[in-house]
Amino acid sequence: MVDAATRSSPPRNRESGELLVLGVESTAHTFGASVVSSRPPYVLSDVRSQYKPSKGGILPREAAAFLAENAPGVVSRALEEAGVGPGELDAIAVSLGPGMGPSLRVGATVARALASRYGLPIVPVNHAVAHIEIARFLTGLRDPLVLYVAGGNTTVMSHVAGRYRVFGETLDIALGNLLDTFAREAGIAPPYIVGGEHAVDRCAAGGKYVKGMPYVVKGQDVSFSGLLTTSLKLLRKGFRLSDVCYTLREIAFSSVVEVAERGLAHTGKDSIILTGGVAANRILNEKVRLMALEQGARFEPIEARFCGDNGVMIAITGLLAYAHGVSLDTPRKALIRQRWRPDEVDAPWYPLTLRDL
Ligand code: AMP
Ligand code: MG
Repeated sequence: MVDAATRSSPPRNRESGELLVLGVESTAHTFGASVVSSRPPYVLSDVRSQYKPSKGGILPREAAAFLAENAPGVVSRALEEAGVGPGELDAIAVSLGPGMGPSLRVGATVARALASRYGLPIVPVNHAVAHIEIARFLTGLRDPLVLYVAGGNTTVMSHVAGRYRVFGETLDIALGNLLDTFAREAGIAPPYIVGGEHAVDRCAAGGKYVKGMPYVVKGQDVSFSGLLTTSLKLLRKGFRLSDVCYTLREIAFSSVVEVAERGLAHTGKDSIILTGGVAANRILNEKVRLMALEQGARFEPIEARFCGDNGVMIAITGLLAYAHGVSLDTPRKALIRQRWRPDEVDAPWYPLTLRDL
């Protein structure tokens, strides 16, 4: 870890009332650290290190070992780039869930160690809430409907009466998991993403619609496991890869957009944000944009680099929460919660964003 004495940037001249929070992200394959200020330019650093399995999916223990090895360097660089010594921080925010146990434990351990060493409070951050807060911060949409699509999550949410409430979600696998698993089993990945494009998109070029692949929306919820099985079965039967990829993508994206559209109608929200790793997808962005246009709702896409997991979103959320009195009284209480749902988290800062503090 970097001490104030070994810092390369000059010390910051802190304005009165400025809050500085270090955010630590470590829920799955990314170890990210970022220092965020309550004053412009807000984001002072953004350092990440990502585990990439050479073949197959994420191996939890291998991922955690990678994160643990890279954590000290990532935290040091985040402080260095921000020109902030650890003793100058007001709090440490850490994503304690939901996520993979071994990965979560790395971030929690790092946060507890730093908090104990420097006498800092820990702010517990829910990873899903953080994906929402960075999108609200970047787009300026203060009270949106949220479509959160990632490797392990597919949820439509909106803030009602103090919390983000889940309007609809996947009943089985997440959208990112569907795309990744199909790509892997079809032999077109890893790597899953090349030049910002998913392997399924790349192989869908020139594809045509295949009849008989299941489109499943049950009430407000979606389901993708039948779509995955059928797609792989058709491929084995000799259907063209491009046709199966195209149809899989169209069905999967249309089903989440349908639930989001209904969410807009039911909640009466007049804007929508798309967040999480799959939000980097250009075709999904276009579908959401068209749906929002039809519904008369505002939609602002977010930059691809802030769709996937990062420390900035944890620091932003932690700072908002800390400014509203949320922190643990002892680092020992910073315990991971693998299945922590966003609707279990109070969001007392809402509808404020960092720009309103
Ligand atoms: P996260 O779980 O938030 O880290 O997001 C990771 C997921 O986002 C993985 O399933 C990726 O395959 C997916 N992803 C990243 N970029 C894209 C893209 N351009 N199109 C579709 N999925 C993507
Ligand atoms: Mg994520």
